[in-house]
Amino acid sequence: MTWVITSLCQEKEDMACVEVCPVDCIVKRTDSDPAWPAQLYIDPEECISCGVCEPECPWEAIYEDEQVPEVFEADIAKNAAIVECRDDFSVPERGEIDAPSPADVEANKAKWGMTS
Ligand code: SF4
Ligand code: SF4
Repeated sequence: MTWVITSLCQEKEDMACVEVCPVDCIVKRTDSDPAWPAQLYIDPEECISCGVCEPECPWEAIYEDEQVPEVFEADIAKNAAIVECRDDFSVPERGEIDAPSPADVEANKAKWGMTS
């Protein structure tokens, strides 16, 4: 079992999750390779499945792998794939916090086709 950051994080990147991860396994790509959407990823080999990142995410983008909504299933493999090119990722610095409203969060989910 591991935890997964879904596409709901794309273009958000406030790093609230990074702040609390005890093992620094939440990372960001260091270049702008278009194959890798601008979001954070969890290294499944380093994640200790503590779950403390999940409630910190204002965009509700983080899920336990077994709980990932169907629409984001591909994100499980995408997070896992960073292991193959781990040197291209590093722990980012925290950015400006732009707390979303509940309506913002729901609009972001709807954009990705997620129905809750
Ligand atoms: S807290 Fe959520 S939205 Fe913010 S960077 Fe982490 S996963 Fe992305
Ligand atoms: S579950 Fe724990 S170890 Fe895994 S990414 Fe979240 S905070 Fe880090």
